Amino acid sequence: MTARVLVVDDVPANVKLLEAKLSAEYYEVITAVNGQQAIEVAQAEMPDIILLDVMMPVMDGFTACRKLKENVQLRHIPVIMITALDQPADRVQGLLAGADDFISKPIKNNPLFPRVRSLIRLKMMTDELRARDITGQSLGLADLPNWEDHTEVKGRILIVDDQSRSSARVSGALNEAGHDAQVVDDSIAALKRARAETFDLIIVSLSIRNYDGLRLCSQLRTAEETRTVPLLIIVEDPEDASLARGLDMGVNDYLVRPIESNELFARIRTQLRWRRYEDRLRHNLHLSLQMAVTDGLTGLYNRRYMESHLQIQTMRAKQEDRPISLLMIDIDFFKHINDAHGHDAGDKILKQFALGISRNIRGIDLACRFGGEEFVVIMPETDMAIASLVAERIRQYTETFSFDCGAGAPIAMTASIGVTSLVGADDTPESILRRADAALYRAKNDGRNRVSEHIV
Ligand code: GH3
Ligand code: MG
Ligand code: MG
Repeated sequence: MTARVLVVDDVPANVKLLEAKLSAEYYEVITAVNGQQAIEVAQAEMPDIILLDVMMPVMDGFTACRKLKENVQLRHIPVIMITALDQPADRVQGLLAGADDFISKPIKNNPLFPRVRSLIRLKMMTDELRARDITGQSLGLADLPNWEDHTEVKGRILIVDDQSRSSARVSGALNEAGHDAQVVDDSIAALKRARAETFDLIIVSLSIRNYDGLRLCSQLRTAEETRTVPLLIIVEDPEDASLARGLDMGVNDYLVRPIESNELFARIRTQLRWRRYEDRLRHNLHLSLQMAVTDGLTGLYNRRYMESHLQIQTMRAKQEDRPISLLMIDIDFFKHINDAHGHDAGDKILKQFALGISRNIRGIDLACRFGGEEFVVIMPETDMAIASLVAERIRQYTETFSFDCGAGAPIAMTASIGVTSLVGADDTPESILRRADAALYRAKNDGRNRVSEHIV
């Protein structure tokens, strides 16, 4: 995995040392000598991760970190603070400034490299989601989520630990702070629970007896239900090789025993914020995909989606020698309704009409708004005779339904429907749509409010 790392330190020897270490791992290294310059370089070069010294002239690391996290363009870049300070209070100050981790000098390859790798992986995933979100926004679809909304996020947290005094202390502190913390002292039970319920964060002790804690982490990472839940591990010793392995397999963060409660809170806060941020991005993505294939007024599929679906279904029907039918439905004299009651009333009626179609077809049928007041229904596994029955049902439903336009008396309406079915190996989606349109045209000419079958 190659990535661009910004190293910020005012002591040239420190920069050289980190640069050599990182270059040996094939990272591209860029540098800055104080906090102010770090922000400028970050803006110009968009690094994938920033290693930030704390004590520097002009602007110290805490301030620089806060400024990076306040900047909308830069806040998603992970920051590791690197420092000679090693008091819990300093670590917490760094984490609260928005740093993703805090590593003490002298820097050892472990845990620096696993940490850099895991944060770069996280960033690449977020980058992908962000890119899709920006695409969605450029189509006018959804809003980029921001961090400010959820600075004090509370979460549902599962603690997997069999050291009961420690887990009771941790869960007690978390519950007191407004989180909902649950403790499980058995790995198998933990996995079951994590998959059955919804958690925002899972904390796993690696020293749990009778089970390999890393195996549990790997199972949580692969299970569909828990794949995206942040994982925080508790280790006895930061030099332990299992910490590095954990980070490489996708664990998000770690705590070292004895657990210092402010640090616990700070790390949990960081994880919950990432989690919310990603959830929002995923939610937006889902919304934009939804919007890309549906019609905004009626919620039915749009024409573009219907055409690809028809292509696939026609091919499949031909391969398997099964029937497929299609209805083309058009409301009669809809222009009069708009003219008499206004365009908004027309919209309301179109929505009700779409709902009426959906209620009269099966789950495997696909209804689409073809355009204006014209609709198409694709019916797999359906021959002409059945399709005509469905069409007749929709026609009768329309004729008898009282449409409500929001004001005044209910409105009566009728529709004309053309029906067609697959006719042979040479049939194509285009010829099917053409035949359905011709049949609809005939229904209109024959006096409207009727179903007309295709003539081959
Ligand atoms: P016909 O029986 O021949 O189908 O007559 P018609 O009036 O329904 O057909 P025509 O194609 O002449 O007019 C369709 C009308 O549908 C015109 C247009 O104003 C209206 N329409 C199309 N899309 C919308 C929409 O999204 N909302 C509303 N309110 N009206 C729409
Ligand atoms: Mg019409
Ligand atoms: Mg029309």
